[in-house]
Amino acid sequence: MDVTRRGFVATLAAFAFPAVALAQAHALEPVPARARVKILATGGTIAGAQSRPGDVAYKSAAYDVGVLIKAVPGLGELAEVSGEQIASIGSQDMNDAVWIKLGRRVNQVLGSPEIDAVVITHGTDTMEETGYFLNLVTRSDKPVVLVGSMRPATATSADGPMNLYNAVAVASDPAARGRGVLVVLNDRIHFARETTKTNTTALDTFSSPNRGLAGLVLFGKARWFSRPAWKHTAGSAFAGVIPDVLPRVDIVYAYANVGPELVNAALAAGAKGIVLAGVGDGNATQAVIEALAAAAKKGIVVVRSSRTNSGAVARNVEVDDDKLGFVAAQELNPQKARVLLQLALLKSKDPKAVQALFDQY
Ligand code: ASP
Repeated sequence: MDVTRRGFVATLAAFAFPAVALAQAHALEPVPARARVKILATGGTIAGAQSRPGDVAYKSAAYDVGVLIKAVPGLGELAEVSGEQIASIGSQDMNDAVWIKLGRRVNQVLGSPEIDAVVITHGTDTMEETGYFLNLVTRSDKPVVLVGSMRPATATSADGPMNLYNAVAVASDPAARGRGVLVVLNDRIHFARETTKTNTTALDTFSSPNRGLAGLVLFGKARWFSRPAWKHTAGSAFAGVIPDVLPRVDIVYAYANVGPELVNAALAAGAKGIVLAGVGDGNATQAVIEALAAAAKKGIVVVRSSRTNSGAVARNVEVDDDKLGFVAAQELNPQKARVLLQLALLKSKDPKAVQALFDQY
C-alpha cells in the first residue's frame, strides 16, 4: 500500500472505528508517563491582583498556588502537578529565612522518588538571587525551574499562565536534568546563575549577558542551547549546606565622590562580608578602597564586583587585590556575589579560599 492510500485508510479507520484507531495510535507511540512536578509558590506578580482592570497598581501574592495551577489550560496533560505554598510575598521582601525554608523543602521534595522536578513561582525582583542560592544548595540533578511574570494575574494579556505552562514543560523535560537551576520567562530558558533582571516592566526583562541562554521554550516545547559553565546543584560543595542562620553580607554601591561612610555603616551593622558594587571593573574612590582594605585587615571578607551588569572582574587590574586581601567576583553581579559570599563564609574567612570558590561557582 502506498503512503497516500495508507493515510486514507488510517483516516477512515479513525472516523469509523475511533476506539480501534486510538488503540492503534497507542500501540505505535507509547504515551510517556507524565512527569510528577511539585510547584512551590512564594508569591510575586505572577500571583498578583489589580483592584480594578487596567490599573497600573496591583498587589503581589494575592492568589495561592491552587488558583495559579487552575488558571493554566492543559497543565495537567503536561505533567502530574501538585502545589504547595511556601511564602506569600513580593520578592522585594525575600529574605534569608524564606531561602532557608525553600532550600530545605526543595531538597526534601527532590529526595523523594515520587517527584521528578520542582517549579518555583517567584517575584521577578529577586528571582536571580533565589535561583542562584538554590543553584548552590540543591542536592539533586532533578530539574528546578523558577518562574514569574511581569503582569499581574488579573491583567489583560497576563504573561503568568503561559510562563507557568512553559516552566512545567521545561521541568518535565528529561533534557533539563543536570543543567542547574533554571529561570523560565517570556519563552526563554536562562541559567539562574547567568540571568539578571534588566528592565523595570518589560516582558523580556531577563537577559543573560555573559554566557547567553540555556534555551528557548515555545508552547511547551523546549530547544536546548547549552550547559552550565560553573559548578552547581549535585556537584556543588554547598549542596545540602543550609544552616539556620546565614552570615550577614552587605553590598556597598560605588559612585562618583563616594566616601567611606557606607563601608563603615556595614561594619557597624555587623557585616562579616562586604561586596563592592564597583564602578567599571570593580573600582571605587580611594576613600572606599582604603576603608575596605582596613575592613579586610580585620578579617571581613571583601569581594569586588561591578555595577555595570556584564563582564568579569578579574584580580589585580586597577586594584591590588593581592596586597589588600580582596576577592574578585569574576562574572557574578553584586547581588549574586553576595549570595555566594554568604555561603562561602560558612566554609572559610580566608580570602584565598574564598577566591577559589568564586573561581568555580
Ligand atoms: N515586585 C514583584 C516581585 O518581585 C515584581 C514581579 O514579580 O515581577 O515580587
